[in-house]
Amino acid sequence: MKYLIINSGSSSIKYQVIEMTTETVLATGLVERIGEAAGRLKNIAFPGSDRELTTVIEQPIADHANGMMLVIAALTDGEKGVISDTSEITAVGHRVVHGGEQFLHSTLITPEVINVLEKNIPLAPLHNPANLDGIRVAREMFPNVPQVAVFDTAFHQTMPRRAYLYAVPHELYERYRVRKYGFHGTSHRFVAGECARFLGKPLVACNLITVHLGNGCSMTAIENGCSVDTSLGMTPLEGLVMGTRSGDVDPALHLFLKQNVGMELEEIDNLLNKESGLKGLCGMNDMRDIHAAAAGGDERAKLALEVQTYRNRKYIGAYMAVLGRVDAIVFTAGIGENDAVVRAESLKGLDMFGIRLDPEKNSEHSRQARCISHTDSTVRIFVIPTNEELAIAREIADLTAK
Ligand code: AMP
Repeated sequence: MKYLIINSGSSSIKYQVIEMTTETVLATGLVERIGEAAGRLKNIAFPGSDRELTTVIEQPIADHANGMMLVIAALTDGEKGVISDTSEITAVGHRVVHGGEQFLHSTLITPEVINVLEKNIPLAPLHNPANLDGIRVAREMFPNVPQVAVFDTAFHQTMPRRAYLYAVPHELYERYRVRKYGFHGTSHRFVAGECARFLGKPLVACNLITVHLGNGCSMTAIENGCSVDTSLGMTPLEGLVMGTRSGDVDPALHLFLKQNVGMELEEIDNLLNKESGLKGLCGMNDMRDIHAAAAGGDERAKLALEVQTYRNRKYIGAYMAVLGRVDAIVFTAGIGENDAVVRAESLKGLDMFGIRLDPEKNSEHSRQARCISHTDSTVRIFVIPTNEELAIAREIADLTAK
């Protein structure tokens, strides 16, 4: 059982081949700069016993079909490939950003599913068309195997309407489906499942706050294993302070910027998505650079850390109120898994809620899932590496077994 997992972006294809009986990654790679003058594929194969074989191909890559042909060439390469031909791939999984309200679960891709994804393009104009490109190409190149769509939004479809509705005229929801959808659902669901195993009880008996802090950041309140609130919104802009995205702002900021700075709506959208967040506050969006600058006395870097961790704390408090009882808080993704300072600052002063970090456990570096709370902490605190590709592969295994 070898699955190909695809994350197709507007100019890139990220992929992994996973051998499912042992959940082992056989190859991972990235095709970049599709449609540009200089395209690039990097494939890393893991043919066993800790060996790593890297292939880099640099050439113009006209479109996703071209990109996928290069991927297949790298995977089936006689010397550095991990499969002898495409028939060894038994299923293909696609990460799809926006499933709208139609998809509560992952689904086998059919022409009807593609139709619905096309209808959802207005909800994710940058992401869904790119995901659809990947789906179309993979269906042509792997015509005889199940193809599965796994949605970033699906896990959050259990949110009650009090959490997902915005207080705007209700017709906007009825006619245009304006509402909170939430994203990073595959990651939140994966770490929640892993956390339940640590807690030694079924996920449906767990109340959790999962904190995904990477380039994009989001937090989810999970009640009895189901998402009941999440910080990202109708688009992946609401909520926490991210690498380049602002998270929450007063919605009247748009009018202010238009009237006082002379900006157009599209420029404001670009400002909030690409020039804000940590980058907007201090000019850097990689947390490692921000720590180095803060250690050197850079006041703006310190400010960015302060604003981000304060927002995290505020959301944790809000989700404690949403859930009442919380079994555990889980940190994941690039910052959440690696940054002891951000974790400590995000939980500072929450002792009265029964949240107590163990400073020594928190500062230990590890790639493993681990508990970092003090033995006195009534809410346990975990660091659990996310693995969206494996989560997608497990979804395929579940779906195709039915
Ligand atoms: P992700 O989106 O999950 O890949 O996370 C990427 C982000 O994680 C980077 O932009 C960094 O800000 C952050 N990151 C990665 N490694 C570290 C680290 N060792 N310490 C702090 N932040 C890190």
